[in-house]
Amino acid sequence: MRAFVAVAMSIALLFCLPVVLPANAQEAVPASLPKELEDVISGSYSCDTWVVMKDASNTGRVMFGKNSDRLPFDCQPLMYHPRQVWTDGSTVRLEYIEIPQVNVTYATIGASPYWCYGYEMGVNEYGVVAGNEAIWTRSLKEAKSNPPERGLTGMDLLRLGLERGKTAYEVITVITQLLEKYGQWGSGEPTVKDEDGSYDNSFLVADSSEAWVLETAGKDWVAKRITTGTRSISNAPSIGGDWDEGTLPPGTNFKLHYSDFMNIETLSGITRQRKSSSLLYDYSSGDGVTLREMMAIAREHKGSIPGICMHQIPLISPSQTAGSLIVVLPNSDNELIEIWWTPSLPCKGIYVPLFMDANGFPDILSRTGKLEKSVSPAWNVGEDEFSMDSYWWLFKKASESDMDSVTRETFDNLEIGFENELNMIREQALILKRENRESEAAALLGDFSEKCVDSALSMLLKMRLPALDIESPATVNLLSVDGGITSKRSTFSADFSDNIKVKVAICDVAENREMEERTFRVLSPPKEF
Ligand SMILES: [Zn+2]
Repeated sequence: MRAFVAVAMSIALLFCLPVVLPANAQEAVPASLPKELEDVISGSYSCDTWVVMKDASNTGRVMFGKNSDRLPFDCQPLMYHPRQVWTDGSTVRLEYIEIPQVNVTYATIGASPYWCYGYEMGVNEYGVVAGNEAIWTRSLKEAKSNPPERGLTGMDLLRLGLERGKTAYEVITVITQLLEKYGQWGSGEPTVKDEDGSYDNSFLVADSSEAWVLETAGKDWVAKRITTGTRSISNAPSIGGDWDEGTLPPGTNFKLHYSDFMNIETLSGITRQRKSSSLLYDYSSGDGVTLREMMAIAREHKGSIPGICMHQIPLISPSQTAGSLIVVLPNSDNELIEIWWTPSLPCKGIYVPLFMDANGFPDILSRTGKLEKSVSPAWNVGEDEFSMDSYWWLFKKASESDMDSVTRETFDNLEIGFENELNMIREQALILKRENRESEAAALLGDFSEKCVDSALSMLLKMRLPALDIESPATVNLLSVDGGITSKRSTFSADFSDNIKVKVAICDVAENREMEERTFRVLSPPKEF
C-alpha cells in the first residue's frame, strides 16, 4: 500500500514539477503544491530541523529545534556522555564498522535510538548543536541496486562530529572527512534490512555565531553557511547552486541534480520544509522567535493531518515523532547552554530543561524499555517494548490515546513554570560562576533539572494514568538507587483502590531518608482518555 501511495504521488508530482521547482532554484521555500496533494504527503516519513539566528530570536541568542521521527517502537532515550580522554590506538565501535578514536571526545547530550551509537540530535560542551535528516538521492537509488560496503550512518556522523568539533564549522569538517573516508551505508531503521533502511543524510549544525546546512549524496556533499534569519531542513535536498563548500563542480545545483523526485519522502520533505519556513517567517516577524514559539513549531498540526509533530497513520505514515529537542545557545561564557527535551510526541509531552553545565544528568531519561541500550546492526535487533522504568516509554504509552485540552493546558502551565523558574536559576548560576563557585552553580542546575523531571513525571502519572494502563495495584520504581551520577531517587506508587491516587516520594539515597512526599488525587478521570 505504501508503494502504491508512493507511485501515485510520484505520478502526481510529474504534474507538479514546474511548481515544486521554481525557476530560482536557490529558493528555500518551494511554491505551493495543490492542497489535496499537500495534505496527503505531509503525513509521510519525516524529520524536521530548524534554526533561529541571533537577529531573528527574541533574546538575541541562537535557538535550534528538531523533531526526530522514527518507527513507533524505536525508543529514543536522551543520553549524556562526559568528556573523555582516550589512549593511543583506541577505537570506537559503531553499528557496522570500527574506526580509530581521537585523543579526546567532548561531552555531549543527545537523543540516541536504543540500538545505535549515534544521535538523532544533540549538543556538545562547546555549544555546538546538530540534527540530521534522511534524504533520498539519486546516489542512494544507485546504492540500493548495487550496495556499497557498509559504513557510517547519519546518526553516527552526527555524534562523532559533536564529539570532535568545537564549532559548527569544525563539526561539519569532521563529518565530511569521515564521510569521504568511510561512506554512508547500513540500515538506519531497526528490524529493517540495509537495502530498505539505508538513506543519505543532511545536517543542520549551529553554534552561537553561524549555522551550516550540509547535504550529502553518497560520498559527495555541499554545505551552505547561514548567519542571519531562520533556516529549516526536512527530508529533501534544499541547497541549490549557491553553496559555500563541497565536492562538486562549482555552481552545481545539488537540489536539482541529486534529489530523487520519484520518492514520496522527497515530496513530503519539500512540503514540510515549506511549512516550517513559513512558521519561522511568521514568528520571526516583530519581536523575534520565542522559546514558546519554538515549542509551538514542534507541536504543529494541520487540522487532522499530522504536521511537524508527526503521528503514525497506518499505510500512510509509518513513523512518528520519537522526541523533540530545543537548544538555546549562549552568546558568551556568561550564559548557559540550555536544553529542552520531551520524549515521544511533543503535542502530548512536557519539555524539561537540562544543562551542559549541570553536575549530573537524570539517568531515568536514558532508560530504554525491555531491550538494553546497545550498538548493533539495525537489522539485527528486535522491537523495543514498554517498560515502566523508562521515562521515554511512559510518555510514548501515554501518547497512544487522545489527550483532552485540560491536560494540555496543565502541561503547558508546568512548562511555563519551568521557564519562569529558569529565569531565576540562571541569574543565580551565573553569579556563582562569576565568583568561581563552579561546582555550586553545577549543583544548582543539576538539582533544578532533577526537580523538573520529577515534576513532569508526576504530572504525567497524575493526569494520564488511565492512558498508561498500569495494572492495579502497581508500584513504579522509576529511578534506581545506584543510578550512577544521579544522587536522588523517586518512587512512585499508583493505587487504584481509591479511584486514582498517585503518591510520590522523593528520597535522598545517600542519607536513605525520605525528604518529601506528595500525593495527587484525581477525583474523576479526565475526559477523552
Ligand atoms: Zn502531535
